[in-house]
This record gives sequence, C-alpha cells and structure tokens, in this order.
Amino acid sequence: MRKNTPEQAAAAKARIKEYLHLYYLAHKDKALSEAKAWAEANPEKKQAASLKSRVKRRLVKNQHAREVYAADPTKKSVQARLQYLKNRDRRLEVNKAWRLANPELAAHHSRVRRGLKNGGKFTAKEFSDLCNHYGNVCLCCWRSAGLAKLTADHVLPLSKGGSNDISNIQPLCKSCNCKKHAKHIDYRLDTLFAQPIAA
Ligand SMILES: [Zn+2]
Repeated sequence: MRKNTPEQAAAAKARIKEYLHLYYLAHKDKALSEAKAWAEANPEKKQAASLKSRVKRRLVKNQHAREVYAADPTKKSVQARLQYLKNRDRRLEVNKAWRLANPELAAHHSRVRRGLKNGGKFTAKEFSDLCNHYGNVCLCCWRSAGLAKLTADHVLPLSKGGSNDISNIQPLCKSCNCKKHAKHIDYRLDTLFAQPIAA
C-alpha cells in the first residue's frame, strides 16, 4: 500500500473534520435535546463531566500560556502590564465603590490581609461581639462608637509579631489607633483586672 504524503494526510483529516461538522450541524437540535435530557436525568454525572472538561480546558490554556511565555518571556509581562493599565482606572473605581458600599467587610478584608503572615484570624462577627462586650466605646478615650468609628487595634502590633487572633484585638477609635501606632499597650480593663494583683 502506498503511504499518503503529509499533504494528502492533512487534506484527508480536514475532509473528515468538515464531514463531522456538517453532520453535527444537520443533527444539532437532536443532539442538544438528547444531551439536555441526559443532563437532567444524570445531574451528578453531568456535574462531574462539566468539572472534568473545565479542568481540561484550563490545562490546555495553561499549557498554551506556558508555550507562549517560553517562546518570548517578555511578551507575557508586557501584555499583562498593558491589560492592567487598560483596566486600572475602571478596576480602582469598582473597588472603591465596593469599599464604600461595604465599609465593615472592606475593613475586615484589609485586616485579614495585613494579619495573614502572623497567623490567627478573627471574624467580623468576633470583632462586633468584642465591641459590644466593651459597651461600644473606644477603650482609650472612652468615646462611644456613635461619636467615633471603632477600629480593631492589635494590642501587640502585627509589625512586632502580634497575632491576628481576637485575643490580641481591642476596639479603639480611629484617632486613638493612629496615636498608639506600633506601640504595645493593652487598654482592656478585664485583662488588667484578670492579672493577679501584686502583694
Ligand atoms: Zn479613642
């Protein structure tokens, strides 16, 4: 048997592909409704199959990105930078609008971000419970939360290795928190009184 030349093989492959595509177009509606019926009858299998194809697509995409990068390492960083600059203003605006609309969550996210490296993680709920525990006042100037916005201060600052656990948090108003800066001061009364009184 004579072997096809590479050109002939490629042409044959293209013909098969075209035929399959035409077949698909001719039977598209039937195929789609069958697939839909199968998905409804097998929701778990459908979910697994979707996940599998999603992972596969991502692997293919990642591989392609790696090849592009290997071919020209400067290309990726330039493209990413351009993309970033193109969307920067819009993204900053969207972020800012979200922070304004969700001030408590935003403050919580930034605390989490700053505290990640020191371990421990307090929740927004734990902080609001702590504020309630101290009567919603700043533990330094005793102004109430109505007059001054309470912030979560780290008793032992993160910069000095303090943890981000609720046990290292005290509610202070913004201005007291700023004044305290990176000093280690515990304003919590119950912590003071819980310590044994020296004879
Ligand atoms: Zn204060």
